[in-house]
Amino acid sequence: MTKIRTRYAPSPTGKMHVGNLRSALYEFLIAKHDNGDFMLRIEDTDQERFVEGATEIIYRTLEKTGLKHDEGPDKDGGYGPYVQSERMQTGIYMKYAKELIEKGEAYYCFCDKERLESLKTEVVDGKEIMIYDKHCLSLSKAEVEAKLAEGIPFVIRQNNPMEGTTTFHDELYGDITVNNSELDDMILIKSDGYPTYNFANVVDDHTMNITHVVRGNEYLSSSPKYVRLYEAFGWEVPVYIHLPLITDENHKKLSKRSGHASFEDLIEQGFVTEAIVNYVALLGWSPEDNREIFSLEELIQNFDYHRVSKSPAVFDIVKLRWMNGEYLKAMDADTFYEMAEPYLKATISKPYDLKKIANMVKTRIEVFPDIAEHVDFFEELPEYDVAMYTHKKMKTNTETSLEVLKDVLTILETQEDYSNDGLYQTLVKYVEEKGCKNGYVMWPIRTAVSGKQMTPAGATEIMEVLGKEESLKRIRKGIELLENV
Ligand code: GLU
Repeated sequence: MTKIRTRYAPSPTGKMHVGNLRSALYEFLIAKHDNGDFMLRIEDTDQERFVEGATEIIYRTLEKTGLKHDEGPDKDGGYGPYVQSERMQTGIYMKYAKELIEKGEAYYCFCDKERLESLKTEVVDGKEIMIYDKHCLSLSKAEVEAKLAEGIPFVIRQNNPMEGTTTFHDELYGDITVNNSELDDMILIKSDGYPTYNFANVVDDHTMNITHVVRGNEYLSSSPKYVRLYEAFGWEVPVYIHLPLITDENHKKLSKRSGHASFEDLIEQGFVTEAIVNYVALLGWSPEDNREIFSLEELIQNFDYHRVSKSPAVFDIVKLRWMNGEYLKAMDADTFYEMAEPYLKATISKPYDLKKIANMVKTRIEVFPDIAEHVDFFEELPEYDVAMYTHKKMKTNTETSLEVLKDVLTILETQEDYSNDGLYQTLVKYVEEKGCKNGYVMWPIRTAVSGKQMTPAGATEIMEVLGKEESLKRIRKGIELLENV
């Protein structure tokens, strides 16, 4: 059996879009599931779209997500160069384009801009494209030679027949057959000498021994033309897996405007890498048992591209938030603290034990920025409504609360042990003496020390963090409020 070889072939044009990350992930999983090779190829032939720093983003993201490539520009595996502009220097694209010309499958085109602009256009996939009229196909060999010798700028076009059909197979879409007359004579080599993506992807995937190609379905409509190139060369067509579109909640293509279209955006919003990778794996793929939480290792074991769906995948940020929360819960306390610390420090400037606070919120937040709303009361007691002291189930109201807080103040003024346990024991003793339920005492205390309806921990845990002075100050403040009812 031939070894599986997949490639991630990004164009360095900016951030790592979620769709690109999904292609990279699926390519990685297909290879690793069968002990194959996962290769990185940089597709930088479109000089106009090149963005400074984008190549670094690609390396950084692959490293961070654990999608380790076996071969690439930084790791020679014998199939280099791995950057298309460097491949061009070797003359490889020109060599193969000339081979096609010899075979009558391609031709030089010298048409200038004015002539091309005068040609008919057609709308394909919502885009207006020019249909080339094969004008230069009729040039004799001698005419071509003469124009080349004169140095007239040229492109090389694919020569697609006007009759017959081309069929190709996609793993998700099945067999697709198109009339050759619908295939435009696309440019293979541009006037700057660079190959187009349309040509380079075929030459590279073949010469680099790629067995499986995973890419967005925006390439589906061009694939018959690629297949015609493979056939013209007599090369074996790789397995094609064209992935469904990723949409936002409104079923519009996930774009920058959605605010969370790239890996970097999501990291900035406080998501953890493992959760993002796990979620992206499920954008189109689902396992038989509908299980949802997978480590990268588990994805390698379970991923099967035959189970990828061709219906559009909706990027559901609510679901990702939930999943991220699951990852935070499962994280070890030290790692969690390390990641939570900057968020805690952004809200709390007082010298409280942030590790304890981190443990309080660990199971309550979905993403790190949620931390602020849970812990802001430590920094400063918020203004709150005395009505919060009234709690039906706890059987408390403003009167009972005032009485309890006064007693508790006296008791806690002499208390030295402000540990959670110490405070709890003292207060439970008071509860027993009073012959009431815990909540009858704890509710008003928690309200007084936090000023909030919901807190990430109970009264005694909060007081442990606040310490004696601040706790008593807040209880006194509660008494003052209740006295003025
Ligand atoms: N450079 C292309 C892109 O970034 C790659 C498509 C492919 O995987 O063939 O969209």
